[in-house]
Amino acid sequence: MKFLAEEIEEYSVSHTERESDLLKSLNRETYAKVLNPRMLSGHLQGRFLSMISRMIRPDRILEIGTYTGYSAICLCEGLRPDGKLITIDINEELETFTRNFFAGSGFDQCIDYRIGNALEIIPLLGDTFDLVFIDADKINYSSYFNLCLEKVRPGGFLIADNVLWSGKIIQPKDAKIDKDTQALIDFNRMVHEDSRVSNVLLPIRDGLMILQKI
Ligand code: SAH
Ligand code: CA
Repeated sequence: MKFLAEEIEEYSVSHTERESDLLKSLNRETYAKVLNPRMLSGHLQGRFLSMISRMIRPDRILEIGTYTGYSAICLCEGLRPDGKLITIDINEELETFTRNFFAGSGFDQCIDYRIGNALEIIPLLGDTFDLVFIDADKINYSSYFNLCLEKVRPGGFLIADNVLWSGKIIQPKDAKIDKDTQALIDFNRMVHEDSRVSNVLLPIRDGLMILQKI
């Protein structure tokens, strides 16, 4: 399900800051060479993440789900000097492709790219984060939230992507619901009811849940 009329989406993209040449080529190469390219954040969401990061001016960012690095590079655009982004992905097949783009991005020194299972890596991180972007396997969104919240500074933010799941989070009563959809329904309810965070669900692209730790 598309949430916006195509013309409105096109108008929004055409009235949004352009992608850098590097991001444009990362976008293009991902579509040409990598499986499931629709997972890449893309122009509009990428500019949104960059803008949010520039508003927060984070010193430490954690990203769960690197894929080919598009959102990581966008998020780095708001880092303070000497800031750092840790990004985790379980898929080692993407490593060479992704590292090449990090190397050309100008943010190579700021990016700590870890290959492995985020569920195992996050508990080992000693940093306190200003911003966390949750964008890996949907089934573990609630676990990622619970693992990360204690590592976010009071006033810091978490953003979770794809929380509208192409509209599948709305289901008729008694419908058979697949596991990913159920996990996102549970995640959205859990964070909405959690008094440790304030939240807004923005229906941008596939839905972004923005959370601030109180
Ligand atoms: N953030 C990227 C897209 C991420 S796609 C962008 O916006 O461009 C989701 C990624 O999560 C995939 O690359 C997948 O390999 C990764 N992933 C899935 N399960 C994971 C896990 N348990 N730990 C770390 N990464 C995982
Ligand atoms: Ca995503």
